[in-house]
Amino acid sequence: MSTKVPITVAKGDGIGPEIMDATLFILQEAGAQLEIEEIEIGEKLYLRGITSGIDDSSWESLLRTKVFLKAPITTPQGGGYKSLNVTTRKTLGLFANVRPCRTYTPYVDSKHSGMDLVIIRENEEDLYAGIEHRQTDEVYQCLKLITRPGTERIIRYAFEYAVANGRKKVTCFSKDNIMKYTDGLFHKIFDKIGEEYPQIEKEHWIIDIGAAKLAATPEEFDVIVTENLYGDIISDIAAQIAGSVGLAGSANIGLNCAMFEAIHGSAPKRAGQNSANPSGLLHGAILMLIHIGQIEVAENIHNAWLRTIEDGIHTNDIYKEGTSKEMVGTKEFAQAVVARLGKKPEKMKPVSYNKNAKPMDMSIYKMPRRPSEPKTLVGVDVFFHWPGTDPNELANQLTQIINDEAVEVTMISNRGTKVWPHGNPETYCTDHWRVRVKSVSSSNGIAPITHAKVLEILNKVTAANLEFIKTENLYYFGNEPGFTLGQGE
Ligand code: NAD
Repeated sequence: MSTKVPITVAKGDGIGPEIMDATLFILQEAGAQLEIEEIEIGEKLYLRGITSGIDDSSWESLLRTKVFLKAPITTPQGGGYKSLNVTTRKTLGLFANVRPCRTYTPYVDSKHSGMDLVIIRENEEDLYAGIEHRQTDEVYQCLKLITRPGTERIIRYAFEYAVANGRKKVTCFSKDNIMKYTDGLFHKIFDKIGEEYPQIEKEHWIIDIGAAKLAATPEEFDVIVTENLYGDIISDIAAQIAGSVGLAGSANIGLNCAMFEAIHGSAPKRAGQNSANPSGLLHGAILMLIHIGQIEVAENIHNAWLRTIEDGIHTNDIYKEGTSKEMVGTKEFAQAVVARLGKKPEKMKPVSYNKNAKPMDMSIYKMPRRPSEPKTLVGVDVFFHWPGTDPNELANQLTQIINDEAVEVTMISNRGTKVWPHGNPETYCTDHWRVRVKSVSSSNGIAPITHAKVLEILNKVTAANLEFIKTENLYYFGNEPGFTLGQGE
């Protein structure tokens, strides 16, 4: 008799309790060895005034069991509430979101057949850092952060996942034609780490055409690795075209902790009707069983589930006259899966998991801090809230105000587009101006200035009643500039 593995379970909101009860029923009947600790998260806590949606005792359980099976929760509309999903992923360091997605044609209707892909989404960075500011009357900003260690980790994870799971190809999606530094880094690291995996085919697509190809010919993809926001969007597309968002589960993997869930939300309109499909959460639970080493139980449940789908026993989100045989509720679907435990699908290929697979070595994802590169400050982008409309006027004012032989105003941009010098009158200007002040170039083009010089510039503009709202220092790292040109510069 194997020992029970402690896990933390949250039943969530909306359809959450129904699909979790159905899932736990199947796990129990299949003989999963689990010691379940239930915690309360989500709407009830939000409405009690706990803006994070989770309390300290729940964190205590999660940090102890390190395994979290979570039903979807409802994030109340309106300000002040933090997304619990984002908080959990970031607090527990769950850097990789793994979302397998496949079609089950002809048993589940889909325009595609033969789709069987895994999306590996970076889970902690990108625009999800939640660093947003209102800067002027007209302009709001959200900061996109892509880090080298975060990217190296997720890209390596994607390749390691491909090798461990017998996958042949890894595709990277980014938008590096536009975001040359952030997405450019992601793409570059993909190419570099990819060299260590010669047995895996590699390709990169710009996210827009990549997403279009995914929607049109999903069978051409195998493993996809991408940034947080793109991954969020394309995994819903992939799940939906596979037949239903109700089918796919996901794993959120960190160095020490892991969380397993359905990819869909709490579907509040369906709640309490015994009509939701528990398959997404069940697939999350199957990934959890593999993670904790209960691989035979996982395989047994997965094959029983495939058999249920093949037998045409369907919840109403995937029910189709002619294809399906019987429409069932959430509970009845779970009973149908339990009745098929020990059976395999007869027409679809049964799953077979490697019983001797060793757990992934997570130590390779520990990212030590690298030594700093030589870095030279060469200027500063000063952002102004300026109500005027003519960039020539702003340039003239600033040239007179700054009046310093060591630095010069080299460019003014508005919404990223260069408007001075030689701007185009067609360019629409808002009240948010970026003024690039750089050191007057020395012979090698990298002439340093001091931080004190930046403060001097800021003091001068403030004394002249111009309102700077933020600055970005302009650095060279070795001989490489750490800043992009303005559009049109
Ligand atoms: P949703 O995924 O809840 O629902 C989208 C559509 O899919 C609805 O038509 C719904 O009926 C259907 N659907 C979803 N799951 C289904 C299932 N298991 N069986 C049958 N049909 C299913 O997305 P939404 O409506 O945008 O969001 C509802 C709430 O869920 C929001 O409060 C949102 O913040 C939250 N949410 C939570 C999570 C999470 O906890 N991981 C993820 C996404 C959204």
